[in-house]
Amino acid sequence: MFPDSPTMICRRCGHSFQLTDQVRRESQGMTRFECPSCKYETVGSGIRAFIKFYPRLVQSEKKIAVEGISLINYGIGDIMGLGMFSWLKEKMQYKCNHCSHTWQAPFDPDTLHYKENPKSFHCPSCLQKPDPKTTKEFFMSLNQTFEGAFKFTHVQWDIFSPVGREAPVKKIQSKIYATKFPI
Ligand SMILES: [Zn+2]
Ligand SMILES: [Zn+2]
Repeated sequence: MFPDSPTMICRRCGHSFQLTDQVRRESQGMTRFECPSCKYETVGSGIRAFIKFYPRLVQSEKKIAVEGISLINYGIGDIMGLGMFSWLKEKMQYKCNHCSHTWQAPFDPDTLHYKENPKSFHCPSCLQKPDPKTTKEFFMSLNQTFEGAFKFTHVQWDIFSPVGREAPVKKIQSKIYATKFPI
């Protein structure tokens, strides 16, 4: 579901851009990256966590699917109404690749629960269970990536396109730039 290179949406001009491997490598030392269109710069502590854990999320998502369970969808909400979207307080939807059963579980606190108790994550219908090490890595990466992205103030991590939803760019754009960069 998650692409190798994540996409960011600039909260100043609304431009979407990918964080390629090269950008990620360069940003790792500097903990900053900028919008290629308007040069709006994103800095801060969330970048380090995001850059470190996003590739691990991509890998562990593929692995946990091979071992029986896929993340197939998640809710997206703007919990504070400031155009900063996340799946916090939303539900994650999973599918068992063994029996095709689908089910939902809240992201928080269940993600933390599965990270701490990976043996408890299994298909509720046929009890298909990935390797607990994979489960732990997946939920840890999911949580760390999310927490990193949640600290971004100048971009929104595009969590819309992985689930086939259109990003509400007008809501994502900071209000103070709406006149300067009309969308
Ligand atoms: Zn921009
Ligand atoms: Zn099953």
